[in-house]
Amino acid sequence: MSAPESVALPFLPGSPHLHWRDGELWVEGVPVTELARTYGTPLFVYSAGAMRSAAAAYQRALAGRDALVCYAMKANATLAVLELFARAGCGFDIVSGGELERALRAGAEPQRIVFSGVGKTRAEMRRALEVGIGCFNVESLAELDVLDEVARALGCRAPVSLRVNPDVDARTHPYISTGLRDNKFGIAHEQALAAYRHAASLPGLEVVGIDCHIGSQITTLEPYLDALDRVLDLVEQIEAAGIALPHLDLGGGLGITYRDETPPTIESLIGATLQRLDARGHGQRRLLLEPGRSLVGNAGICVTEVLYTKTGPHKNFLIVDAGMNDLPRPAMYGAYHAIVPVRPRAGTPTVWDVVGPVCESGDWLGRDRALVAQAGDWLAVASAGAYCMSMASHYNSRGRAAEVLVSGPRSQLIRAREVPSDLWRQERALALD
Ligand code: PLP
Repeated sequence: MSAPESVALPFLPGSPHLHWRDGELWVEGVPVTELARTYGTPLFVYSAGAMRSAAAAYQRALAGRDALVCYAMKANATLAVLELFARAGCGFDIVSGGELERALRAGAEPQRIVFSGVGKTRAEMRRALEVGIGCFNVESLAELDVLDEVARALGCRAPVSLRVNPDVDARTHPYISTGLRDNKFGIAHEQALAAYRHAASLPGLEVVGIDCHIGSQITTLEPYLDALDRVLDLVEQIEAAGIALPHLDLGGGLGITYRDETPPTIESLIGATLQRLDARGHGQRRLLLEPGRSLVGNAGICVTEVLYTKTGPHKNFLIVDAGMNDLPRPAMYGAYHAIVPVRPRAGTPTVWDVVGPVCESGDWLGRDRALVAQAGDWLAVASAGAYCMSMASHYNSRGRAAEVLVSGPRSQLIRAREVPSDLWRQERALALD
């Protein structure tokens, strides 16, 4: 069945793996209506092809270099997603002991894991040292001392790189900007040399590199290149002081298209980075990258059913079965996600706020969206592969959604929908008077 002429098929970030065929939305070779019918909603659907081609784009752009792409698994930490990236040759950027266990469970090689984050516990450090991870990205002097102590107690040396804060404005949302002097992350540029001297003096540590990550959803090249220049200045100073820095970790942060952003392509970001490294005589240095969003963000959608329509004198609401607990970015950052009908209808659009069932006014997925929709329709919330499921919660005692991976004509359930007993599995009945 072809779409009637009058039905406009909306723009959908994530093509060509997400596309329109016969008037409805498909992920690779599977119609989304079939997935919604089979697995129910709310449902996250990911394209394996989109994830693989994003990883391949980084790897192609880095071909011939000594480089490792460490997937920042905070973006989407579902085991099958991690397995996909491990098989594609990626390492992992982790920020907790839980992420470490997930990465190991998914078959990650410990040597290809870097451990970021401002608040690593001793227990997390110990476990990471025991399994032999590749590098700790250390974020403070106090953390250096604790890591040194933990490593010496285990009779080993911890591989460390210091996360330096280049004080560059990534020009992104304040909550995901991390490279400014007032952010909690990293060691201030002007303190970096002293911090490296301290690290090099500690017997439980082995300095293996330098690291920076200036923020997320970055849509222009300039902040990257500014940060790179600042970090290279430091590399030159630190090496002149006799401390070798075998690798340079430039973090993640490349933005994706949610609405009309035109971020640099992976190829142009890596191309410009390598050019600058070569120009400054650092082309031979081992390079690590920690992309998250740009590997998975546009590879996923969240499919949700319209439960009710509610029209009023000032506002119209589409009340859907996915809420802020499933997809927290709009509530948390005011983030925009495109919302499209899975099978667009002909007709005159109404302007709706698309809202969830959670008891919070902040529970919205999209505001002022012109859509032709009615109860029982399925909508797809686009660009939902990153920082959606991994940020989902049980708020309002709502079980987390199911997740499905599509590869060509096949789909696989990679996370079953949670049932009520999953909600209280770790709880204990009242035993006190
Ligand atoms: N590395 C670190 C240290 C991060 O904090 C983050 C996320 O903010 C990333 C990598 C991944 O960033 P993105 O998903 O924007 O690529």
